Amino acid sequence: MTLGRDSRMRILVTGGAGFLGSFLCERLVEQGHDVICVDNFYTGSKRNIDGLLGKPNFELIRHDVTFPLYVEVDRIFNLACPASPIHYQRDPVQTTKTSVHGAINMLGLAKRVKARILQASTSEVYGDPEVHPQPESYLGKVNPIGPRSCYDEGKRCAETLFFDYHRQHGLEIKVVRIFNTYGPRMHPNDGRVVSNFIVQALRGEPLTIYGDGSQTRSFCYVDDLIDGFLRMMDSPPDFTGPVNLGNPGEFTMLELAEAVLHLTGSISKLEFHRLPPDDPRQRRPDISLAGSALGWAPRVDLEDGLLDTVGYFRSIFST
Ligand code: NAD
Ligand code: UDP
Repeated sequence: MTLGRDSRMRILVTGGAGFLGSFLCERLVEQGHDVICVDNFYTGSKRNIDGLLGKPNFELIRHDVTFPLYVEVDRIFNLACPASPIHYQRDPVQTTKTSVHGAINMLGLAKRVKARILQASTSEVYGDPEVHPQPESYLGKVNPIGPRSCYDEGKRCAETLFFDYHRQHGLEIKVVRIFNTYGPRMHPNDGRVVSNFIVQALRGEPLTIYGDGSQTRSFCYVDDLIDGFLRMMDSPPDFTGPVNLGNPGEFTMLELAEAVLHLTGSISKLEFHRLPPDDPRQRRPDISLAGSALGWAPRVDLEDGLLDTVGYFRSIFST
């Protein structure tokens, strides 16, 4: 697709070499925008953006968002931050710095160049929720001092900064709260449940169930989520969010394990492990706001999305 001179934009994607960021960069490049991908490769990799590196409208900058960045852009998608519990807990101080200093630096940049800026926030701002499903109006139940806090509180503080820059400096902001998203290109050692179960099933290893497996999550396929990102960025200036993006189908971890075993044809056993501290008991997005404000709803059901993801992991294990 070729865009006219007026609709072609310079778009910065922080965390662009990560799982979600690489799909987002791809879509924006395809649309004909000039895309700058910024990443420090903490969890991302050049392999994720291999297909983009030679394109004339794609540029990669190795940079840590906790330091200021000077570029001239029209729009910013701020995704930089490790998302998997094992990765964000490896260096928790850096995780908080990435969310908070990263937000300050990207908001400062947006203010200087008058860019519209979108924040990739998370369902973790609801913590271990007492309201189910979670609407955007629910204020959350988050432990401020536990092992997940570096991520949860970092993301909550980033939302605060976004809304204060909006109120104080008139910045055009967009905040999306992402619920568990999965798909091809997740790192095999990412540690999140979907990739763990698929990798374990394909290798014939036991599937590691934390706790008794009765906790629930709602899983959104990556293509649906990216569609939600793009709709949110293009929404009218007075719509700031926060808006939930996720698939409201809700499954226990035991149901997910059964589905993965069925789709892979694996005879792996289940192995029960200790439940990590502060692991939320249940999670499901209320997506009525995304429907009414963005005309968005996910289309890919869990079985189809898992099949694609299983196909991806089979292909990387066979090369
Ligand atoms: P990911 O770990 O694959 O991607 C994060 C990217 O950010 C990586 O490429 C990493 O190298 C980069 N990064 C980390 N710290 C950085 C820093 N200081 N400077 C520059 N780059 C840095 O994770 P993902 O699943 O693609 O998540 C992307 C964003 O979406 C994150 O902000 C995450 O919090 C949010 N999110 C994701 C999910 C999900 O289920 N995937 C759910 C909720 C929120
Ligand atoms: N989980 C599991 N086995 C694994 C990895 C995770 O049972 O090998 C559980 C985890 O305890 C949580 C759920 O799966 O209840 C989702 O975990 P994930 O790390 O994917 O995301 P988050 O907890 O951040 O939603």
